[in-house]
Amino acid sequence: MTISLAIVGVGKIVRDQHLPAVAGNADYRLVAAASRNGRVEGIENFGAIGEMLAAVPSIDAVSLCMPPQYRYAAAVAALDAGKHVLLEKPPGATLSEVEDLAARAAEKGVSLFASWHSRHAPAVEAARGFLAGTRLRAMRVSWKEDVRQWHPGQAWIWQPGGLGVFDPGINALSIVTRILPQPVFATGATLEFPENRDAPIAATIRFTDADGLDLLAEFDWRQTGPQSWDIEAETDAGVMRLSEGGAKLSVDGRLLHAEPEQEYPSLYRRFAALIRDGRSDVDLAPLRHVADAFMLGRRTLVDAFHD
Ligand code: NAP
Repeated sequence: MTISLAIVGVGKIVRDQHLPAVAGNADYRLVAAASRNGRVEGIENFGAIGEMLAAVPSIDAVSLCMPPQYRYAAAVAALDAGKHVLLEKPPGATLSEVEDLAARAAEKGVSLFASWHSRHAPAVEAARGFLAGTRLRAMRVSWKEDVRQWHPGQAWIWQPGGLGVFDPGINALSIVTRILPQPVFATGATLEFPENRDAPIAATIRFTDADGLDLLAEFDWRQTGPQSWDIEAETDAGVMRLSEGGAKLSVDGRLLHAEPEQEYPSLYRRFAALIRDGRSDVDLAPLRHVADAFMLGRRTLVDAFHD
């Protein structure tokens, strides 16, 4: 059965990833879009989701790609109308609102997919398999990028609920929570807020687990030059390095896994499978760790940030 899909919040990630991934997947037919300013050529466009849902009853599923602070109301409208829903990451502005969405989806008998695109990076499952077969001693996560390069002019990421440096950092946490053999929890954090912004530009979080794992995650948006999206693990079977955002896996310098990046095509295959199987996938672990970091974090003020 072909899934009639609509996209809401037509901006950077829709153009870069959602539209090509949907176009390349025969399970979907893109039928409509809703966005205040953005438009998708060749389909019906609306200014708001309510208008779109009323005008195009054939929609089976919607992808919600606006910033997280504005997603809940749109998700409720879609679920109330009986549509399957894909949430871009992070799935919402709070844990409680996403839990409410999961309950609503279950009540309506539709699929809710809180998507984590980085979990679909090519070497993530291989890293998970490697860690399952050895003893992990320590892990270092380094997610450092240039905010001016990746988020030019995006005001929402600096506003409350926009998460600041956790917007990319949560991608690292989505991988970490997928590959680790058991749950971890934060024991302390430092959050660096530019004096003129409501969200952090850098953060350091320490985690441990029931066996005393030493896990340090460092996120920084002030990185110029080479960018780092790396996870390194000291294990009894050698030093595992998952690099380039989960694209490459090596152990003791030997490359074990490197395939072309296919995150969004994989993510849309998963959404179609969930719809077909009548299931939801709402893992809140990455968002919970961010919430814990805000709860435990020591706040420091740093230089003002100007675009
Ligand atoms: P964006 O381009 O700034 O925003 C997407 C669209 O959302 C905007 O073009 C805008 O469209 C709509 N929007 C903005 N503010 C809104 C508001 N107040 N109310 C309703 N709609 C609003 O952001 P993006 O980079 O695509 O990111 C969107 C989501 O995707 C975020 O959660 C982000 O974490 C995730 N994501 C982004 C990337 C990336 O590389 N950029 C990668 C992976 C995931 P209209 O003005 O037309 O309504």
